[in-house]
Amino acid sequence: MPSSKTIRILAGLSLALSTVLFSSLSVARAAESSAVELTREGSARLPIVISDKASVEVRKSADELAEYLGKMSGGKFVIEIGNGSRGLVVGQPTDFASLPFELAFESGPFHREDYVLRSHSQGLYLLGASDLAVSHAVWDLLYRLGYRQFFPGPKWEVIPAARDLKLAVDANESPHFYSRRIWYNWGLWGYNDQPYHQWCIRNRATQGFRLNSGHAYDSILAANTDAFAAHPEYFAEIDGKRRTEGGDIKFCISNPGLRRLVVDHAVRTVKASPDLDSVSMDPSDGGNWCTCDACRQMGSPSDRALTLANEVARAINQLGLGDKYVGMYAYNEHSPPPKVKADPHMIISVTTAFLRGGFTFDQIIEGWQAQGATTGVYDYLSVVAWDWNLPRGGKAGRIADVQASLPRFHQQGARFYDAESGDCWGPCGLGYFLAGRLMWNIDEAEQTDAIVDDFLERAFGTAKEPMREFYRLINQDNSRRPPADMVGRMYRALDEARKATSDSNVHARLDDLILYTRYAELYYGFAAGQKSVEDVARHAYRIRKTMMVHSYGLWSRLVSQQAALTDGHPWKSEEPFTSAEIDTILQEGITNNQPVDSDFESVAFSSDLVPATPLSLPHVEPGSWPDSPQDRQRHYIWLDKETKELNLQVRVIKRWANRMPMLNLYSPQEVKIEPVATDESYLPDGVERTLKLATPYRGLHRVETFDGGDHTFIKWPEGMPVTVESGIDTSCVTEHFRGAWTLYFYVPKGTKIVGGWASRIANWAPRISGKLLDSSGREAFDFGTAEEGWFKVLVPEGEDGTLWKFENSQGQRLLMTVPPYLARTSEGLLLPAEVVEKDSLP
Ligand SMILES: [Zn+2]
Repeated sequence: MPSSKTIRILAGLSLALSTVLFSSLSVARAAESSAVELTREGSARLPIVISDKASVEVRKSADELAEYLGKMSGGKFVIEIGNGSRGLVVGQPTDFASLPFELAFESGPFHREDYVLRSHSQGLYLLGASDLAVSHAVWDLLYRLGYRQFFPGPKWEVIPAARDLKLAVDANESPHFYSRRIWYNWGLWGYNDQPYHQWCIRNRATQGFRLNSGHAYDSILAANTDAFAAHPEYFAEIDGKRRTEGGDIKFCISNPGLRRLVVDHAVRTVKASPDLDSVSMDPSDGGNWCTCDACRQMGSPSDRALTLANEVARAINQLGLGDKYVGMYAYNEHSPPPKVKADPHMIISVTTAFLRGGFTFDQIIEGWQAQGATTGVYDYLSVVAWDWNLPRGGKAGRIADVQASLPRFHQQGARFYDAESGDCWGPCGLGYFLAGRLMWNIDEAEQTDAIVDDFLERAFGTAKEPMREFYRLINQDNSRRPPADMVGRMYRALDEARKATSDSNVHARLDDLILYTRYAELYYGFAAGQKSVEDVARHAYRIRKTMMVHSYGLWSRLVSQQAALTDGHPWKSEEPFTSAEIDTILQEGITNNQPVDSDFESVAFSSDLVPATPLSLPHVEPGSWPDSPQDRQRHYIWLDKETKELNLQVRVIKRWANRMPMLNLYSPQEVKIEPVATDESYLPDGVERTLKLATPYRGLHRVETFDGGDHTFIKWPEGMPVTVESGIDTSCVTEHFRGAWTLYFYVPKGTKIVGGWASRIANWAPRISGKLLDSSGREAFDFGTAEEGWFKVLVPEGEDGTLWKFENSQGQRLLMTVPPYLARTSEGLLLPAEVVEKDSLP
């Protein structure tokens, strides 16, 4: 449970009462609290008690408690006005005159959601620090009694039947993250509004503290146009001129008048809304930071933005209106940690993507923390344009990532968690549900397996085991699978699940997941050029009310936002799927999608690479590297003893500029993990530069480049061996194989099968194409006519011990039966030492 220090149990009010009750509570806490019987044989044993001062919200919470206890047990719970001495006491402690103990929640904006659940033989206390906390107490109690709202909507609500409800509880709850949000990018779409909000309340995914961190500079300008018109020097200076228009306005923050204006603006804002928890001082998007001398002397964009925000924080905390906070992102150019200290009222949200300056997320969050800021995390649980709601696509589609990251964020000091997500409960539902548990209490990460098991048990009953396989496939499995294999296995698990239960509630859930699987099948088909965007959009719209896929986001991305908002669009059908249609989808899905295992054994090779020259491979026409190298690239090179210094011609074409480019040179002989040489002096400006890298070692080295989504081109020294790795377990293959390429690989003597995996590098990339040629130039395989997935070629007589070629290829080829190393020429190829040694024997 979260920290118990958030409440203080004080001595009882009256001596007589406290002697009896307080001592019994102490005993209860020391051992186990007394159990309370809520119902017996379907009859309520106690009333629900609220205060005559109870707010509308508390009354609503009490009503919901009565309603759900009734649904579970069949008992009728009456709601009474009382003093808190007995019954199911619902409200804030100050509402009740006769609580048998004194309870004071910690004050301040971060403890508004704290609550207590405590049973004794005569009743149960559901006491919260605020109306929202009282609601949490009610839903937590129901959760402890087995109630679940796994996904939004009535289909995914599980109300267990129990005529005898009894429990013992003594919990002091306080959330680990003070603000917890899983929200839909692109927004809600009408039908999903109410179920979404209901899910948030029932899973405590709420914000007791309102953190404002949105871009603020443009709105400050809009609210103060006269002052800015009178003072053009308040605008950022770019190329010697004040930039007064064009959006994404930046200020000349070194100007004291500008800072006073911004501070006055914030003070007015807070005075006008004294209940505000925070104001945002996040800069506008984009660059355009002031280039005047005084601003440059202030430091980096982070330093300048923070200096201004610090002044605002000090001013709004002198108003006598309580603690007021200032929110800001560590994002884009103002993501690197500042040199100046942060005011204690600064809250910095660090994004897990779009970081700049070559810093990692860890360095940024820890760097801001070190300057005194309270931090939060802006995470991405699902982004429709990244994962397209496919299985194991978004972060929420990978249970292990959710399980590992939330406790880690908290450990790094984060106290706010905000996750961009989508209405895609098919692939992400279990991940969202788990995130909901962990946002409140990171310690539950250790119970992830139990949480998954509880979900399977309660949501699917006797169909639990086939559904375990379904969720393993879409949320846990990491093995490479062709789309037909993935979808085929999903359909089969659902079919088995259907046969394993006659429960109509479970069947309704399985139907939704069949419709989700059909979506995945259509999207994979669309990505492979076999289905049209219309096929995908029609299906996504028609199943939108299942909330299995983020239909609004998909429409906005695949069709257009305007089409998404157009009523009566010809692709929009309001007709729900009939059970006959769902049966057909399932049966055809099984027929049309056959699971396939690779029918070859993979062979392991060492990574102790040496030149292939002892094999005396023939000279070949040089191939070509992928023509759009991007993000992170890793090349293996060989430095002979004449090489004193490695000179590389490097050119970076700007595309996303998410980080400045960097090149690291590693040697396996270096005992430390660090590179032997690093160069960060170059820019994404299209200019070719010579980078000089010195190393004390000879032989094998690894060159790694990072460019944050730009294109890094390297000209390698003439005659130097350069090889890339492309195996089933190789990291960063995806980045390597962007664009068209032609490369060679070696088929060792005695090899019977050339087998591996071929796929696009990402869901947005061109489909696979290109040919596999043996050493005599004969076509062994045509990827242009093959489906993504395993490929297998029998090695003809005499074609082992030779160099084969992937010609004019799109997509990645992960080699599994031969050394997974590719090069432009035979002279450039590096191979595992054991292969070279064995095959060079006469
Ligand atoms: Zn300036």
